[in-house]
Amino acid sequence: MGAVKARPWLKLTPHFIEGELACRCCGRLLVQTELLQKLEYLRCLAGAPVLVNSGYRCPVHIGAVGGATNSYHLKGMAADIRVPGLAVESLAALAEQAGFDNIGLYQQHGFIHVDVRGYRARWDG
Ligand SMILES: [Zn+2]
Repeated sequence: MGAVKARPWLKLTPHFIEGELACRCCGRLLVQTELLQKLEYLRCLAGAPVLVNSGYRCPVHIGAVGGATNSYHLKGMAADIRVPGLAVESLAALAEQAGFDNIGLYQQHGFIHVDVRGYRARWDG
């Protein structure tokens, strides 16, 4: 499952385009359908734009940010997201409702990490 160059403006779902989820360093993209479905559902629950700080990260980018080599970002299964004006706890509650298994709260940075790893987990970043 290799990442391919994203076509930045192509719609992945009604509310998300490839450029939003592509790697910030190289513009390549790998994204799992389950992640997209849950992000779109979350967008509908929030009733407001869900901004993606980070979606797919290529191996080079993972290295640059000091991320784990088994990161779910590398597998196209994770995103760091925020909704302006919505508290981190509230966003996390909506993410749970949207079906995300794993939710990490980055209170000080105002975003949450969500992924679809297949088992439930909660943590503070
Ligand atoms: Zn990259």
